[in-house]
Amino acid sequence: MNFESELKKGNLVISECIDCKKITWPPSEFCNQCLKETSWRKCSDLGKIIEFSKQNDIYFGIIQFENSIRIMGKIISGNPEVGKTVQVVECGVSDSEYVLKMKVVEE
Ligand SMILES: [Zn+2]
Repeated sequence: MNFESELKKGNLVISECIDCKKITWPPSEFCNQCLKETSWRKCSDLGKIIEFSKQNDIYFGIIQFENSIRIMGKIISGNPEVGKTVQVVECGVSDSEYVLKMKVVEE
């Protein structure tokens, strides 16, 4: 199991240290803090917008998940604002690039 093979199947997973519980990013088999092994688990599908920009009518955002890791993706619906919550609607790998599509969760 690894990040990319799970992403290909549409699953967003993260590696978490079995000892100190730190989430390692980029994903790794070993903790970058205490060097112990990590285990894989599903990542929350809710993230927070840290930054976003618009290119050719498409919004791109840097999204923080689980108050820890930051992943870039496309925001395909809603009105993005810094601090708003987004939900992952689709993820995968295309042309060896990570694809992450999200929608804004309107409160
Ligand atoms: Zn650790």
